[in-house]
Amino acid sequence: MGKLDDGSPVWIFFEKINGDKEVKCRKCGKTYKYCLNTSVMITHLRSDHPDDLRKAENERKGKNGAKNEKNSRYDNDANSNLIMALSTSNVPFRFVKNEYFKKFCLLLNPDHIVMSPDAIRRNW
Ligand SMILES: [Zn+2]
Repeated sequence: MGKLDDGSPVWIFFEKINGDKEVKCRKCGKTYKYCLNTSVMITHLRSDHPDDLRKAENERKGKNGAKNEKNSRYDNDANSNLIMALSTSNVPFRFVKNEYFKKFCLLLNPDHIVMSPDAIRRNW
């Protein structure tokens, strides 16, 4: 299986047959010659099973949403550890405003937003 195909939603609806030479629609049994791209299959799904295709695409989006949730859980863990680090080492909360500390965090994870001193006080 080529890398390009793996993420495509068409594989929810199609299966490869005849030693990967053809693909078969699981919904209606229509077969197409498989030539290493999914455009024929997408065209078929759009014209014959548009509702199913939309549902599959929405489910994929849902999965990405779950991934974002995981990232924010990581952020929460990072933040609570930061709060613990500050509160157990006599470092003032405004330390998070330190230019070099901010750079340090950015280097570790460019997507992470460091809490403001006020936010830390609220969570403390
Ligand atoms: Zn079909």
